[in-house]
Amino acid sequence: MSNLEPKKAILLDRDGVINHDPGDYTTHISEFTILPGVIPTLKKWTDDGYVIVVITNQGGVAKGRYTLDDFYEIDAYMRKEFLSAGIAYLDTYFCPHHDAISHCLCRKPGSGMVEKAIARHRINPETAVMIGDKWRDLEAAEKAGVRGIKIDVNQDLRTIEV
Ligand SMILES: [Mg+2]
Ligand SMILES: [Zn+2]
Repeated sequence: MSNLEPKKAILLDRDGVINHDPGDYTTHISEFTILPGVIPTLKKWTDDGYVIVVITNQGGVAKGRYTLDDFYEIDAYMRKEFLSAGIAYLDTYFCPHHDAISHCLCRKPGSGMVEKAIARHRINPETAVMIGDKWRDLEAAEKAGVRGIKIDVNQDLRTIEV
């Protein structure tokens, strides 16, 4: 595949899709548990030619529930787990803002993060898929021309067909 060819991508929400969402913010790496179906499924999608991008609202930063460093520690761990499993993980986009504190253009259902990912990584929106456990994940994708698949919170990704 030429380097200039648009990429086929799967965009994933994080909490409740990649890691177990207990119903509150994941504030620290000690609370971050990757769900059982994630690694084998992302590896399968990698083998099918998809690249993987994570797109996540982290309003707990704006609310002071955890710090940017807490977020980056989790993100580095997730990246390491993905790359060591041979997953074609490219990037994470996150919104540290929250409507209760201040407005922004990135927080889902806004499409800012999806559009940034598409532009920076030369993703083809027509072949991309966004997987999320909240309707706002799909709304953000649809505004950027990307099809969405809604799953239940903490659903096993092995049950999903893209
Ligand atoms: Mg979620
Ligand atoms: Zn934001």
